[in-house]
Order: sequence, then C-alpha cells, then structure tokens
Amino acid sequence: MKVIEKIREATEGNGRTVFSFEFFPPKTEEGVENLFDRIGSMVATTLRSCDYVAARRIHADLTLDIANRMQNMICVETMMHLTCTNMPVEKIDHALDTIKTNGIQNVLALRGDPPHGQDKFVQVAGGFACALDLVQHMRSKYGDYFGITVAGYPEAHPDMIDTDGVATLEAYNNDLTYLKRKVDAGADLIVTQLFYDTNIFLKFVNDCRQIGITCPIVPGIMPINNYKGFLRMTGFCKTRIPPEIMAALEPIKDNEEAVKAYGIHLGTEMCKKILAHGIKTLHMYTLNMEKSALAILMNLGLIEESKLSRSLPWRPATNIFRVKEDVRPIFWANRPKSYISRTLGWDQYPRGRWGDSNNPSYGALSDYQFMRPRSRGKKLQEEWATPLKSFEDVHERFMNYCLGKLRSSPWSELDGLQAETKIIDEKLANVNLKGFLTINSQPAVNGEKSDSPSVGWGGPGGYVYQKAYLEFFCSKEKLDLLVEKCKALPSLTYIGVNRGGLCVSNVGPNAVNAVTWGVFPAKEIVQPTVVDPASFMVWKDEAFEIWTKSWACLFPEDDPSKELLELIQRTYYLVSLVDNDYVHGDLFAAFKDI
Ligand code: FAD
Repeated sequence: MKVIEKIREATEGNGRTVFSFEFFPPKTEEGVENLFDRIGSMVATTLRSCDYVAARRIHADLTLDIANRMQNMICVETMMHLTCTNMPVEKIDHALDTIKTNGIQNVLALRGDPPHGQDKFVQVAGGFACALDLVQHMRSKYGDYFGITVAGYPEAHPDMIDTDGVATLEAYNNDLTYLKRKVDAGADLIVTQLFYDTNIFLKFVNDCRQIGITCPIVPGIMPINNYKGFLRMTGFCKTRIPPEIMAALEPIKDNEEAVKAYGIHLGTEMCKKILAHGIKTLHMYTLNMEKSALAILMNLGLIEESKLSRSLPWRPATNIFRVKEDVRPIFWANRPKSYISRTLGWDQYPRGRWGDSNNPSYGALSDYQFMRPRSRGKKLQEEWATPLKSFEDVHERFMNYCLGKLRSSPWSELDGLQAETKIIDEKLANVNLKGFLTINSQPAVNGEKSDSPSVGWGGPGGYVYQKAYLEFFCSKEKLDLLVEKCKALPSLTYIGVNRGGLCVSNVGPNAVNAVTWGVFPAKEIVQPTVVDPASFMVWKDEAFEIWTKSWACLFPEDDPSKELLELIQRTYYLVSLVDNDYVHGDLFAAFKDI
C-alpha cells in the first residue's frame, strides 16, 4: 500500500497519528542480521501501528535486499530510498523493477549526497541531475504504481546555507519553489531534513502551504543519542541549534545516559508541539537504535493506543500482491517468516481466498527456513544446547518452553510464547512430560470479545472463536494409544505423519478445517487459520528438518545428544490434533491415562 494512502486513511478517519522509523544499511553482514532483529522487535513492540519503515540508501544492492526483507519477511510497509548518485538510468530502472516485483510500492526519490571523498554532486553519464528528474522519470515510466516521497529542507538545502548558518531569503524561496516542482511532477509526500527548532519547521510548513504545496509534510525527528554524534550530524546538515538546547547539553555532555534522557525529553516536547499544530505524521530517524525513538512514541501515547489493533491472529503481509491474503494454515503460526518466504511466489494470493495448497511453488524448502537471527541463535545455544541424556531430558526441554521458562524454541521464530498459550500452559506441560512434544497450540474460544488482550484480533466490536488445537511429535507407540482414545472422542480429528510420509488420519486428504474465525459488524465471517491436510504434508518436511538443522546442529559431532535427536527425527510422528467441539470439548482428555 502507498504510504500516502495510509496517511490519508489514518488521518482522515479517526485522526490517528501515523509514524515511521528510518534505518540505514549496516556495513557488516552481522550488522545487517542484528538490524533485522531490531526492526522486528520495534515493529512487534509497536504492533501494526508502525506505519512504515524507510531503508536509507548507502550501497545499492544492500539497500534493495534490506528493503525486500523488511517488506516481505518483517511484513512492514517499506519505503526504499533511491538516489541518483552513480546511477545511470539503467541501474535506476533495475532497482525500481526489482522492488516492483517484490511488491514494494514506496520510494523516497533523492538526488543523493556526493560519494565519499567528493564535495560536489556530479551527474553521471546517462543519469539524473536532481531528484526532480528522478520523480519525472518514475512517473513517466511507472505511472502511478509507486508512492513517491521527496526530501524537504525547513532551513533550505545545506548547499544554500551560508557560512553564517542561514540561507538568504532568496535561496530559501528558490528552494521552496523547487520543492513545489518536485511535488507538481508527481511526488505525493514530503519528509523533512532533521531540525531542532520546531518553530522553523512550523514556518516551513506554512510557507509551503502559501505557495500551493498541499501534500502532507512529515517532520523528520532525530532523537539526540550522544553529544558528539549530535554535533557531527547538525554540523553536516548545517542545522540550527537553539541556544537553550546547547545550554542544556553542555553540563551533561560527558554523561551518555543523561544525554539520551534529555534527547527523549526534547524529542517528546518537539513532537507534542508539532502534533498540537494539527500535524498527524512523525518520522523517526532511528540511526538503527530503538530505545529513544520508542520512548518518545510511548511518551506521546502512540504505542499504547495501538495495542488494540491486531488485525488478524498473524501479522498480515504488506506486499502489494498479497494484501488480500486472509487465510493461512495454522502450522506456520510460530514461523511466520518461513511461511512468507516459501509462499512468496505463490500465485494463489491475488485471489485472496485460500487456494490450492498442492501448488508446486508452495513446497520449496530452502536454506532460508533454517536461518536464525543472531539473537535467537544465541538464546537457542544457551537454552537448547545443554546435554540430553534421555528422552525424559527432551520432554523436559519442551515442557519448560511451554511454561515460559525458556524464551526460545527451534520451532519458533517468535520471541517467547503467544499470549494465549498462558491459558493452557499447565496442561501443555503435563502433555509434554508424557512424551507428546508440542510445537503449536491454541485453546478453544467460544465468542470472546475481539479486543481481548489474549485471544482477540480484528479490532473492537466483534467476537472471535477458535477450536482447540495441538501439534506435537510423539513415538509410534504413543500415537497408537492416542488413536485408540480418539475412537471414543468423536469431536477429535487428527493427522499423523512420520518423516518418510507414512500417514495415520481420521480425515480425508482434502478436508480443510477452519480453526479460527471471527464475526464482526458489517463483514462476512473472517476465517484466518485453517488445518489443511495437503499443506500439513508440506509443513512436515520443515518440521522434521528442524530437529537436525536447528537443534542437533548445536551439539558437536558424535555427541550422544545429537544422536538422540536424530533418532527422534527418524522414528517419531508429527501429529496435528483438533477438537471440533469448541463449546464443550476437552482436547486434553485424549491424553488422560496415557
Ligand atoms: P534535490 O531535490 O535534487 O535538490 C537538492 C537541492 O539542489 C535543492 O534543495 C535545490 O536547492 C537544488 N536544486 C536541484 N535542482 C534544482 C533545480 N533544477 N532548480 C533549483 N534548484 C535545484 N542521502 C543519501 O545519500 N541516502 C539517503 O538515503 C538519504 N536519505 C535522505 C532522507 C531525507 C528525508 C532527507 C531530507 C535527505 C536524505 N539524504 C539521503 C540526503 C540527500 O540525498 C541530500 O540532502 C542531497 O544533497 C539532496 O538530495 P535531494 O533529493 O534533496 O536533492
């Protein structure tokens, strides 16, 4: 979705404030992985109220890759920065074609700074001289596919600012006129350069309005994180620093914590003043650090406010080609990135409805599915790489995870358990101790309010329902006992399969079972998760591989723990169990006396 549409929807409807974060591509591979952890956690903290993130442009290919992963793996609306620096038009088109294919719709069109070591921007042969050229090119070649944002300078562009730190009125006015040309050429949004004098920003907005610029003008807020960085940045951008800010910083400049706290206070006050003037958008330059930007938004009450709006039980895709997606198999509930990556090219989504899960592109299991973000890798190493002497040790590990004693699981990409797991955690612990090693579950819900903090989704005003669900690994002997018990419990349906594909089930291969649904005012029934036997067979390959690729691999070669895990992988069954009686059923009754 275009950011401009998000802004219009949010600000015209209920008057909500729209906010965004900006990140820059780190230099090292490790830095990139850490950045994804950080963006993921910021987006999770702010839930869906983070309206978009922007990927600053430094290195062309890296920016493309990061923007793609932000949009498609973290599922947050992404604005890619595109500059003209060293970019002949073929390279620009390559970048635009790539992001278009990846379902990204938002671009910040920039001239760019001169490359490192040069002090003047030089137009490359076959390239563009300024952002205006780029905007014109994008509109003429790509029509209105892209939402285009351009940069605005409340104090005029640094090149226009004289040695006394101020641009002449003529230079400032020329800059404004040029900005209007960028908007008239097709830009639909302006994000500003950082500033610390809020009055200058408010005057700039007013001046823009006077010359007929009507699009939203988003203030760029850079929280002060440390004194030297602040001086470097404001020096580079020739930003005016109000004397009271220097006076406040001077006595605390060597105390990093105090500077940060002041930065949060100042950022909060600046934003309050801006919001009080009816501006409903904020853009946070994070410098890849999350704390200050989040603290400011929390002070403004913008993060709390959003907690009510989990639009679906899973984080919906933002990729323009799959925004209509409204149903997923429950199996990937704890591995959303893996699900998205393996269904990225799936041609079912344009239709929105749950499609044919026998589609060949759905089955592709790549190395990506076993990649671990670094922070999770570290936690897994600490929590799961301790020696396993017996099956009971394995049972205990799963039990501890369900009780919240461990933060990580090889089968989950999430940080800890889903809120609803708390409702059944003791029962899960008990089942795990018996050797049914659970990797996914949900309690039965019969008409809870849709804004319930533990099981709600879809916003206020509706009611949500779900069938009790359990997914686990167990030995063939235990599965046989369970199958016997199920004969006396007709509301239970199950599918069990071993690594080789041997299947035991009491449902047909095409019996898709809705396990979560919601009833909302003026809407059809929404049915976001299903148990689909065909996609279970796709999922089982991934689920079994995790035993070795994400867990056994944490142990040295020939370690007995590794051998135990490989034995389980070879001999156990993966079982999906649903209690279809969501009103009176008791799924856990099936495990009694086993
Ligand atoms: P332009 O809009 O082309 O204009 C630059 C200035 O030149 C104008 O202000 C205007 O005064 C003058 N000018 C140019 N053409 C004309 C004309 N035809 N007539 C009159 N005046 C003209 N840099 C990066 O390298 N990577 C990034 O990711 C990045 N992100 C940024 C994000 C934001 C929000 C901002 C504000 C800046 C960002 N920059 C980034 C910095 C930006 O690239 C530099 O400030 C650059 O020097 C100018 O880019 P621009 O798009 O504003 O240029």
